[in-house]
Amino acid sequence: MIDLHTHSTVSDGTDPPEVIPELAAKAGCSAVALTDHDSLAGIGAARSRAAELGVALVPGCEVSCRSVGKGGMHVLVYFVEDDEGPLSKELARLRHDRHMRNIRLSDKLASLGLPLTYSQVVAEAGGEEGIGRPHFAAVLVKAGAADSIQDAFDRYLANGRPGFVPKSRLEPLDVARLAIQSGGVAVLAHPYSLELEGADLAAVVGELAAAGFAGIEAIYGRYSPRQRQDLSNLARRFSLVATGGSDHHGTIKPDLTVGTGRGDLKVPDQVLANLEARRPVRAA
Ligand code: AMP
Ligand code: FE
Ligand code: FE
Ligand code: ZN
Repeated sequence: MIDLHTHSTVSDGTDPPEVIPELAAKAGCSAVALTDHDSLAGIGAARSRAAELGVALVPGCEVSCRSVGKGGMHVLVYFVEDDEGPLSKELARLRHDRHMRNIRLSDKLASLGLPLTYSQVVAEAGGEEGIGRPHFAAVLVKAGAADSIQDAFDRYLANGRPGFVPKSRLEPLDVARLAIQSGGVAVLAHPYSLELEGADLAAVVGELAAAGFAGIEAIYGRYSPRQRQDLSNLARRFSLVATGGSDHHGTIKPDLTVGTGRGDLKVPDQVLANLEARRPVRAA
């Protein structure tokens, strides 16, 4: 089995990048992808540790896009390297934008009278790199302003709530283009986050396939067997790879574990081979 969706302390996970392959090995995974939000900075450390453990490390990241649905849209990119190719450059711009957003978000929450400072959020994240809303949520929980991470989102941080501050997003088709130009592949993450169903979801998936997407994340940690089957069918219909992963974030999402998700996840090794077969052929 494998896991193609995990986060480390490089973004909003709580395990350092080198621990992800350790957790994968313990779970019995032959391969694991590190897919931090907007960053490839953990790939080196994760790859070294993975090599020691005999686990294949798939380099990747997860990019938030302007959504084509009602809900949010995330795209996973695989087989891309840090400081190489046009995607890496674009990620640097997104990280700068995220940094500015985080400062505005601190000011916004303080203006709502909440007991939170930017320096507390930096301390919670262990540095200024890779700060995301879950870190703000954790500070609010520790300060007693929310009961849980989810409660902090529901009260303040989610889109439509009083503390929401947007960050700039790429167009999904631009992510696919940048991924391909960088020698990688793009996969639609947790498709039900789009909050589309039936024919609407199928239409969007068809458009993504036509635009060069390689797959959709069908075997997702938080999806039911029925949902996984429906998404796998959708993937087959558009000749896409039905990929899968846990979306492990450590204690930020305590219900999701590397490899097994909520306990019932099992992504076959074949999925990685199918995805590798979709890599662009690069000019020498
Ligand atoms: P950011 O990239 O800083 O905007 O934060 C994105 C992170 O926040 C992702 O890891 C999501 O899992 C988490 N997140 C976004 N919206 C919600 C929500 N409504 N409830 C819980 N977590 C959320
Ligand atoms: Fe996250
Ligand atoms: Fe995501
Ligand atoms: Zn994720």
